[in-house]
Amino acid sequence: MPTCVQCRAEVGFIGSLVFNRQTGRCSKCEGETRQALARFRAAFLSFCSDGILTKEKWSNLLAGAAHDRLNINEALAFIRGDILNLLDRLLTFATAIGFITDQEERNFHYMRTTLGIPDLAAQPLLSRLGHLKHITTILLLSELNGTVSELFDTQ
Ligand SMILES: [Zn+2]
Repeated sequence: MPTCVQCRAEVGFIGSLVFNRQTGRCSKCEGETRQALARFRAAFLSFCSDGILTKEKWSNLLAGAAHDRLNINEALAFIRGDILNLLDRLLTFATAIGFITDQEERNFHYMRTTLGIPDLAAQPLLSRLGHLKHITTILLLSELNGTVSELFDTQ
């Protein structure tokens, strides 16, 4: 009979029928973990509804996961779609305005690395960010040129 990795209980015959072999958890721990994952997701969505992850928000999320005895990697994998949505929204918003600020860019990278988005999954977003930085530079340069020619015009 298998043993639950979470509560270390050996599941009986009935338990083994509903035992989750993928996660190694008994049905009771599996149910508790699913609830904890849902709480973690709700906390993430509410903390980051403004599109910004701060160190303080992150430590609150970590504390919540630890309190619920959640494995942080499993929790982050569970909300990966939400994280990607959020990063996508940041870029879409910046693209609509036509440029990205240094602070927004730092927030983007902080969120991506802290929330463990693998390089491969982040690739399409990173190339969009690269393009956005490119047009931001062009915009800054043309504004700078405008300022310079205004200076000369007034003389
Ligand atoms: Zn268990």
